[in-house]
Amino acid sequence: MDIQALLALQEEDGRLRDLQRELKTLLPNRRKAAQARLAAAREKVKAAEAENLQASKEYDRFLRQFQRDRDRMARAERNAMGQTGARALAAADQEHRDASAGAAAAEAGLAEADKNRTPTERKLDEARQAEADEELAVQEIYDAIEARKALVEAESEKVKARRDALVAEVPAAQLRYYDRLKLTRWPCAVPYNRAEGVCTGCNLVQPPSVTQAVLHADKTPDAPLVTCPACGRILI
Ligand SMILES: [Zn+2]
Repeated sequence: MDIQALLALQEEDGRLRDLQRELKTLLPNRRKAAQARLAAAREKVKAAEAENLQASKEYDRFLRQFQRDRDRMARAERNAMGQTGARALAAADQEHRDASAGAAAAEAGLAEADKNRTPTERKLDEARQAEADEELAVQEIYDAIEARKALVEAESEKVKARRDALVAEVPAAQLRYYDRLKLTRWPCAVPYNRAEGVCTGCNLVQPPSVTQAVLHADKTPDAPLVTCPACGRILI
């Protein structure tokens, strides 16, 4: 059985399959993984922004309270100046003390809120920096993917040309069988384990007649293809 041309064709087809798998699956998957990295970094920025906004609102709330109480104090002072009655003076005095206590509490709250705000700001800065780093890294990955894609496409063209040249050398009957089998099985031609009578494509033990046919084909150049009764692969 002479199938050297068919085996050469199978080898090129194997290369072509690998290249196309890279184009259709591996490279798009690498791109998706890079996109996911960037999306994760962006999510972290969003979360840090939300946390920082919350801390800022808390700070602003104490700031407004502090300003309100300071205004109350000023009003109470102005009020006291225009008063002559003891009772009105005492009331203005009380108002001033209340406002002063409120302002002191707000000031303490403000200091605490400021302390809490600092780490969220730092976290936000870090998240933004990490996002910028990821953008650069991901852009490099995209560039590498594009470069690789161009290389694989060029290589595919070369393999296709070699393949087309090889097709002409394969006997017509072998080529027909191979082309049909290729749709469902790969590789199409596999070594036959003569000692154990096993097709290495499907790993099933074959009847002795298959081993006999393979041994016969080994010695007979014009013998027809021997195929596996189980999976249909060409046995070599
Ligand atoms: Zn088989």
